[in-house]
Amino acid sequence: MPMPSGTGRVRVVVLGAHFGGLAVLHWLHRLVAKAVDVVVVAAKPYAVFKPDLVFSAYARPRFVGAARIDLSDVCRRLGVRLVVDYALAVEPDLRRVRLANRPPLPYDVLFLATGMDWAWELIPGLGPETGFLCEDYASRHVAARMAGWRGGRIALWAGPLVQGPASPPAPTACECPLVEWVLMAHGHLRSQGRRTATRFALVTPARALGEELGPRAQARVAAHLAGAGVQVVTGARVREVTADGVVFESADGRVRRMRPDLSVWMPPAAGSALARRSGLDDGWGWVPTDGHMRHVALPDLYAVGDINAVTVPKRGHTAMVQARVAVHHLARRLGRRVQAPPYRPSSLSLLHLGGGRALLDWTQGRQEVMWEGRGPHLLKRAFSWAYRRGGGGLPLMP
Ligand SMILES: Cc1cc2nc3c(=O)[nH]c(=O)nc-3n(C[C@H](O)[C@H](O)[C@H](O)COP(=O)(O)OP(=O)(O)OC[C@H]3O[C@@H](n4cnc5c(N)ncnc54)[C@H](O)[C@@H]3O)c2cc1C
Repeated sequence: MPMPSGTGRVRVVVLGAHFGGLAVLHWLHRLVAKAVDVVVVAAKPYAVFKPDLVFSAYARPRFVGAARIDLSDVCRRLGVRLVVDYALAVEPDLRRVRLANRPPLPYDVLFLATGMDWAWELIPGLGPETGFLCEDYASRHVAARMAGWRGGRIALWAGPLVQGPASPPAPTACECPLVEWVLMAHGHLRSQGRRTATRFALVTPARALGEELGPRAQARVAAHLAGAGVQVVTGARVREVTADGVVFESADGRVRRMRPDLSVWMPPAAGSALARRSGLDDGWGWVPTDGHMRHVALPDLYAVGDINAVTVPKRGHTAMVQARVAVHHLARRLGRRVQAPPYRPSSLSLLHLGGGRALLDWTQGRQEVMWEGRGPHLLKRAFSWAYRRGGGGLPLMP
């Protein structure tokens, strides 16, 4: 049972304020607002709605502003204290978080939702300057390159997702945003009559493209990429990035060099440096938890979202589901009469296909539900609008 502070309220600290952290804040507000004092620590004063970063394919750099969510506004609405700072380490023995610019922050209960870190160092020569999609500034840069695009070769590169042996197997990379991006760019260039001047390649370490999806959706994605004339290279291992191109080994062991005019990366990911520094991880940067997202050895520490070892594939929707599971569990511990079922792994993907169409794919075990067309596109746009407007909270939370 978490120990209340002198005020009689439990001190809750939430690290990270995006899909996972924001959903935790909304659930705390709904279930236990009167019993807790909440502080959220975020490295930036805004969150970025990452699913919208694929809109850089449409060559309008100003879209990035609309992808941002002002955290001070959200925190004011939810009665939460916002600390914009960088968490250096968690000290579970002392029940506090060390911050870069402030005194340590004490907690009774901690929610860890700082996501995964990009492991640039895994590929010599690779760095944020190489071109990537995952942060707002990087995506703006890609959009600017597309705005001045005159034709040539565009290569999309998926870095490996490095996990420990205890994590669920597959996927070995996060490629779905690249699939969306290339299909959107294809549609955009075609609508302008400029498609023929561009060659696209998508290179991934995965044995089959779209391991994050169920088999039906995988087949549909392969058909769309073939229809768009995208060269797909699977089973590839990038050896290095040089001024003279990208050197990679293909599945047949051949070493090849590609010289793209524009590269768009989903960088390698290897867990969380914060979790490693704090000794909270499984040895690979991912945090091991029980079915209620509670750390296996620390009952007052919950981990939700990408940072959690069970989160495969890495999805915003999953982070929101895990936040619900974790906060309901805490609410029960605080005496609230709520159901607190454990997390059941599932995956929901909603992929833009360009041309006002999208593909929805939901999998749980061997079950798969797929829906393709205008409906999923409108659903994704509506979700984006409602999510940003609600500051990470929705009238009906998943
Ligand atoms: C281009 C792109 C498109 C995507 N599209 C989709 C999609 O369509 N659907 C979907 O479900 N998922 C999508 N995803 C995946 C989804 O964005 C992630 O799974 C999700 O953001 C994970 O949420 P999170 O809260 O765990 O971590 P994050 O979103 O990474 O948030 C972590 C937060 O913690 C903060 N932080 C990190 N370290 C520290 C620190 N030391 N101190 C303080 N704060 C810190 C960060 O600033 C950030 O606010 C996409 C991802 C990308 C990159």
